[in-house]
Amino acid sequence: MKSLKGKISARRNYLSVMYIPHNKGGVKTIRINHYRTTLLTTFAFMLVALLVLTGYTLSVVKQNREMKIQHTNELNAILSEKEQLEALIAKQAKELAENAEIITTMNSVKTISEEAIDSYREQYENMVVAYIDKDLKEIGTVSRGDKKPASFKEDVAELRSLISLVESAKLSEDDVTSKIAQKEAQLNNYLDALPTYWPVNSRTTFSGFGRRFHPIYKRYIMHDGLDMAGEKGDPVYAAGAGKVSFAGWNGGYGNCIIIDHGNGFKTYYAHLSKILVKEGQRVSKAEKIGLVGSTGLSTSAHLHFEVRLNDKPTDPLYYIEP
Ligand SMILES: [Zn+2]
Repeated sequence: MKSLKGKISARRNYLSVMYIPHNKGGVKTIRINHYRTTLLTTFAFMLVALLVLTGYTLSVVKQNREMKIQHTNELNAILSEKEQLEALIAKQAKELAENAEIITTMNSVKTISEEAIDSYREQYENMVVAYIDKDLKEIGTVSRGDKKPASFKEDVAELRSLISLVESAKLSEDDVTSKIAQKEAQLNNYLDALPTYWPVNSRTTFSGFGRRFHPIYKRYIMHDGLDMAGEKGDPVYAAGAGKVSFAGWNGGYGNCIIIDHGNGFKTYYAHLSKILVKEGQRVSKAEKIGLVGSTGLSTSAHLHFEVRLNDKPTDPLYYIEP
């Protein structure tokens, strides 16, 4: 009994596969023990697992390869983008540096301009004070050869150089510029109105300002102007811009033009053969206003030219530039 039980128990560990043919022939039984079954099953399972794993690995490898290509492409794109960005940054940095330079230059130019404005405003005021208000008495008595005429002309020359400096320092349309433009126009007008233009083509003078022996009166009297050589009919030009305050017959002056230049300045053009302007007319510097003649108290054709400051005759050579 005990041995049978063991035999049955042992038999349970077998797996029997029966082969029953339908035609004649004996039944065949293949008996597989449990150990083999387990081994076979495990092997089959492992085989399947290996196949699955291999498939999976292959697919992962393939996917990885695709991803790697994609990543490489993406990386390249990022790198080129980075390069472009760096180039852009470099370009902007360069532009910034250039702008900084321009701003620095502009600021220095601005400083120069402001200094120029202050400088010429001061000079302008000094000139007006010195030549028109304060030293009028002194100017009226200064004779030729004094340092005064040269210094006035030097002042004018300096004002002109200041104008060119201000012009060269022109900036954009901001307050400084308009201030410059305003002052520049003011100064240009002032210089334009100053009687500095030699009124005839000839540069020959034969009777200066001051006491001299009068050819008609035959005695020493004050000569209020400067006699300039010229033929009858030669053009006479305005010494500065201004308004004709007189045009007509004026006693000993004969046919005479008086131009008011403002700032206390007036110029006289006497003995004219012809007057080409009318009273009240505005004239510009160097404009033709009349013709040389010998009308009035005159012995021969010439231009008698006077510059008066607040109606006081002064030496024209202080102002006119040959
Ligand atoms: Zn004269």
